[in-house]
Amino acid sequence: MLADLKAAVEIESPSDSKPAVDRMGRHFAGRFQGVGGRVRILRHATAGCGVLVEFWPSLRRQKPLLLLGHHDTVWELGMLREMPFRVHGGRAYGPGILDMKSGIIGALWALRALRATGAQPQRPVRIFLNPDEELASRAFRSVIFREARRAQAVLVLEPAAAGGALKTARKGVGEFRIEVKGRLAHAGVDPAAGVNAVSELARQIVRIEGLARPERGLTLNVGMIGGGTRTNVIPEHAWASVDVRVSRRPDLAWIERKMGGLQPIHPEAKLTISGGINRPPMERRRAVALFKLAQQLGRQMSMDLSEASTGGGSDGNFTAALGIPTLDGLGGVGDGAHARHEHIIIRELPRRAALLAALIATL
Ligand SMILES: [Zn+2]
Repeated sequence: MLADLKAAVEIESPSDSKPAVDRMGRHFAGRFQGVGGRVRILRHATAGCGVLVEFWPSLRRQKPLLLLGHHDTVWELGMLREMPFRVHGGRAYGPGILDMKSGIIGALWALRALRATGAQPQRPVRIFLNPDEELASRAFRSVIFREARRAQAVLVLEPAAAGGALKTARKGVGEFRIEVKGRLAHAGVDPAAGVNAVSELARQIVRIEGLARPERGLTLNVGMIGGGTRTNVIPEHAWASVDVRVSRRPDLAWIERKMGGLQPIHPEAKLTISGGINRPPMERRRAVALFKLAQQLGRQMSMDLSEASTGGGSDGNFTAALGIPTLDGLGGVGDGAHARHEHIIIRELPRRAALLAALIATL
């Protein structure tokens, strides 16, 4: 498994590099084909290719089980030189190793084991590998929806939460952009003629932060701002990007209404608000039954599994919102997703693959 994982990590696959993600997709397609999967590569004009795999097609009269993964990473080309694949102290390091190449390798080995032992699951297994999950999953969102709607349940191969917990709830994720238009003027000669877009934006930011409701899981982060041209010019333009997370479904419409309803504070400033919620929350009730089953199967293998909720989004947000039972966090166990110390705990690799195999055999 580790050799397989090394090979996958050493093919860099940043979401925005189509040739790289295509290469990663073709690599995984070949590996799944090698263990008996029927593989289709779904090409895309601008994004990397998606990969659709099916096992046990003869069981098609039953609803399939859907496994969801993504083969893109947040790491730019060349990062492998700075953080090469390495093994140290029972851990394996490298870009994308936790998020989520180890999850895909776990699925590969789970299916390989089931085939090798002649296990006969109840239903076909379909796997979709998404090439642009880290860019909000736009390229193949309709495929994810279509595959989820026909599925009995969805197992998401994203990394486990801290300590190995499975993920039963995720916040919804949104992004808004605020553009402010003021009026240019010379800061010294004619200050009264200007409308300062930067100061308007600063005041709007205080308002926006006031929309947070952390007690019910609604948080906001003004993560980027820009504006102005020179210090002696009253700025005409300013902008901010805001990340929004919500725990509860009704807050989707609430925050969109509040953000969309922001009014200028300076009467001559103009505001343009764009963006919105792009992933609905993954509600726990869609995961409870699957989690209980995983816990029970885990116990038979001396695994003590707990559950966790997270503020981060995944493609499980979409499938749970469609009402399909969805359990997430079935991939690698480790730490440092999207960070330089990204790693997995090696001994958990086969254990997680075994858990996945048990779920596939039982569901
Ligand atoms: Zn991920």
